[in-house]
Amino acid sequence: MAGEVLVIGGGYVGLHSAYRLHELGYRVKVYAGDLGRAASWGNAGIIHQGSITAVPEVMGLLKLLRLTLRRDSYVSIRPSFALREIGPRGWLTRYISEVRSGRIAAKARVLQRLLLESRGAWLDVIRREGLEAELNESGSIEVFAVRENFDHESEFRRRESAELGYRVEVLDGDQCREIEPLLSRQVVGGLFYPDDLWINPQRTIYSFADALRRKGVEVIERFVESVKVEDGRASVLTGNGKESPEVVIVCAGAWTRDVLRSAGFRVPVVAGRGYLAVTEPSEQRISRPVICADQRTIVGQTMAGEFRISSFFELSSPDAPPDSSKFERMRRWSVPVLPVLSGLKFKLTWVGSRPCTPDGLPVVGRIRGTENLYVAAGHCRLGATLSAATGVLVAAMVEGKEPEILKELSPERFS
Ligand SMILES: Cc1cc2nc3c(=O)[nH]c(=O)nc-3n(C[C@H](O)[C@H](O)[C@H](O)COP(=O)(O)OP(=O)(O)OC[C@H]3O[C@@H](n4cnc5c(N)ncnc54)[C@H](O)[C@@H]3O)c2cc1C
Repeated sequence: MAGEVLVIGGGYVGLHSAYRLHELGYRVKVYAGDLGRAASWGNAGIIHQGSITAVPEVMGLLKLLRLTLRRDSYVSIRPSFALREIGPRGWLTRYISEVRSGRIAAKARVLQRLLLESRGAWLDVIRREGLEAELNESGSIEVFAVRENFDHESEFRRRESAELGYRVEVLDGDQCREIEPLLSRQVVGGLFYPDDLWINPQRTIYSFADALRRKGVEVIERFVESVKVEDGRASVLTGNGKESPEVVIVCAGAWTRDVLRSAGFRVPVVAGRGYLAVTEPSEQRISRPVICADQRTIVGQTMAGEFRISSFFELSSPDAPPDSSKFERMRRWSVPVLPVLSGLKFKLTWVGSRPCTPDGLPVVGRIRGTENLYVAAGHCRLGATLSAATGVLVAAMVEGKEPEILKELSPERFS
C-alpha cells in the first residue's frame, strides 16, 4: 500500500480515480492539463440511470449514415477524420464491424452495472466533500415533438428498462407540461427518468479539484509531454523533467490515444465532439434537464438561471476549430420545445470532446507488457456518469484486485 500514483488528466475520470486512490492511502498527483477543455467541464451534466444502450447500436449503421449525410443533422464526420479512420485498423472500420457484431444486449448489461454504481458513488463524493455541484435530484425528461420518434423510443426504452432494471415513465404531452410547464404544445410525449441526477459540470469540476487539493492531492493544471516505458516500467516527461512514480494512470479523455502513442501503444479513443452554449440568466425555470430528443439537444439550467444548451456528435480531431454555425442551430432545434430560449443571448460558447471507443464501452485496465501503466478512458456520451464507478474500479485495479467487469473493459480487446 501507499505508493505514489501519477494520474494524467483532470476530467471526472482522473479526479474520481485520484479521490479513491487517496482514500486508500496512496500519494496522488494529478497532471490535469486544462480543466476548461475537459469534456467534464462542458457536458450536459446528467448523471444517467436510464438510456444506456451503447452508442454504436443506438444509431445503427444505416441510421448513422443517413444522419451524417443530412445537412441539418446532429451527427457529422469531418472529411479529414473519415479519410484517416477508414483504413484496415481505423476507428471507423472497427466501429462498423462492431455494429454488425450484434453484441448490443451484452454491452448494455456491462454499462448498466457501472451506471447503477455511479449514482451512489457521485452522491457519496458530493455530500462527503461538500462539492458545489448544484445537485438536482428531480430526474430528467426526454421530450418529443415528432410522434414517430416518440413511439419508437418509448417502446425501446420500455423493453430495455424492464430487462435492465432502471425506472422510466412514459408520459403524454399534457403530462409532460404538467411537470415542466415551460414545455410547448408541440411536445407530443416524453420519457421521465426519475432517478437521473443533474450537476452543474463547470462548478463541479473546479470544486472537486479544490476538494482534492484540500486533502493533500496535488492537482497541477499542466500537460505532460509524453510517457516512456523502459524495462516494463512507465515514467512521465513533464516540463520539469522525468518523473518515475510507482503507478501511472492515463485518464486523458479524447487525448488518451496521443498520450499512449508517445509510449508506443495504440488504444483507439477518438473525439466525438459536442457543442455547448450558455445563455444569460432567466427568471423562468425548468425543474430538471430537458432532452429535446428529436435532435438530441439537452437543456439544463444553473442555479443562477442560465440555460446550458448542448448537442452534436461530430467525429473530428479534438483540437480542430469549432463550426460556429452550430451554436445557433442548437437554439433553433430547442426553441419549438422550450420557447423560453428564443430571446436569450449566449454569454458563452464551447466545444469539447467525448472520448469514444469503436465498441461503445470504456477502456479500463493495465497496458500489456508493462508493470505500472494503466488506462481509464473512452466513456463517450456517458462519461460524466460512469466516471464515479470508474474511480472505484481504478482504485481496486491498482490494489491488485481484479473485479470481473475488467475483463469486458480491457485494452487488450483492441490488440
Ligand atoms: C456536449 C457534451 C455533453 C455531454 N453530456 C453528458 C451527460 O449529460 N452525461 C454524461 O454522463 N456524460 C456526458 N458527456 C460525456 C462526458 O462529458 C465525458 O465522457 C467525460 O467528461 C469524459 O471524462 P474524462 O475524464 O475521460 O475526459 P475529459 O473530461 O475530457 O478530461 C480529460 C483531461 O485530460 C487532460 N489532458 C489531455 N492531454 C493531457 C496531457 N498530455 N497531460 C495532462 N493532461 C492531459 C485534459 O486537459 C482534460 O483535463 C457529454 C460530453 C459532451 C462533450
